[in-house]
Amino acid sequence: MGTIISLTLFQNRPQVVTTVYQYLVDAEKKFSANNDNSEIMRINQSAGIRPVSVSPAVFDLIKRAVMYSKKFPNSFNVAIGPLVKLWDIGFSGQRVPSATEIRQKLKAVAITGIELNESQLQVYLKYPGMAIDLGAIAKGYFADQIAFQLKRWGIKDAIIDLGGNVVTLGHNQLAKNSDWQIGIQDPKKTRGEILGKVQLPACSAVTSGIGERNFKVRDKFYHHIISPRTGYPVENDVAQVTIFSPSSIQGEVLATVAFFAGITAGQQLVKQTPNVAAIFVTRAGEIKLTSGLNFKKIA
Ligand code: ADP
Ligand code: MG
Repeated sequence: MGTIISLTLFQNRPQVVTTVYQYLVDAEKKFSANNDNSEIMRINQSAGIRPVSVSPAVFDLIKRAVMYSKKFPNSFNVAIGPLVKLWDIGFSGQRVPSATEIRQKLKAVAITGIELNESQLQVYLKYPGMAIDLGAIAKGYFADQIAFQLKRWGIKDAIIDLGGNVVTLGHNQLAKNSDWQIGIQDPKKTRGEILGKVQLPACSAVTSGIGERNFKVRDKFYHHIISPRTGYPVENDVAQVTIFSPSSIQGEVLATVAFFAGITAGQQLVKQTPNVAAIFVTRAGEIKLTSGLNFKKIA
């Protein structure tokens, strides 16, 4: 998944670790947009040709992603694949496409082109050139699934860290008040260098930002969150947003949507959503918190 994943338990359960590891290896095989044999790739390769039968998990995640794409039509879009591939940001083919290329791909990101057949577990992309991309939501889904499984196996306290998607469960046995501490990446610095930390009870913390996958051409900055309306990377005052929420899939979607909204409207959106808080970092490097967060800045 292009990141480092870690699972922290507070008891010796090697079988649990192995099973979670296997779950993720399997998930990557099914869901990857870069692996020729994944179910997602088969759906994309059959665009405009035929419906594809998929496993229940793949169907379930696509169904939810389509639901969110309809709810937030100007920002979150699971059919963004053609534009993501055109820009190829973070990969060897990255470049600034021509306006004509972008215009052509914009036609292929219409969410109405995804047809779901629930009884047959089939997904059909109606038009040639369409492509599903679960990059903004899959890790949140996996994190929620792992959290659910851990609870079923009687694991009460744990940290699941899927690189930018953290879920804490139960109590932090190393802290007096049992709250967890989550470091917030400094978007201007290398991975692991934090600008501060939050202390809070078990929850999901998802970060989306322009800090890691990006490139510059003639002093113009391009990053990997792309607008389904313009076809270009979102240009606004947000460098990074971290969403704290009960579920990680919700955190993923809100991170993307809040990113598009910008600092002011993004904070508004988070305030209107029950049980959710956020930390925004502006492009100027300012930190903006929604209320109720116990945040300590690193001097
Ligand atoms: P990361 O964990 O890699 O930072 P994010 O959760 O921020 O990823 O999502 C970014 C990824 O989501 C992109 O690499 C791309 O695959 C996909 N993506 C880009 N733009 C959108 C969009 N508007 N809606 C949904 N997914 C997107
Ligand atoms: Mg995300």
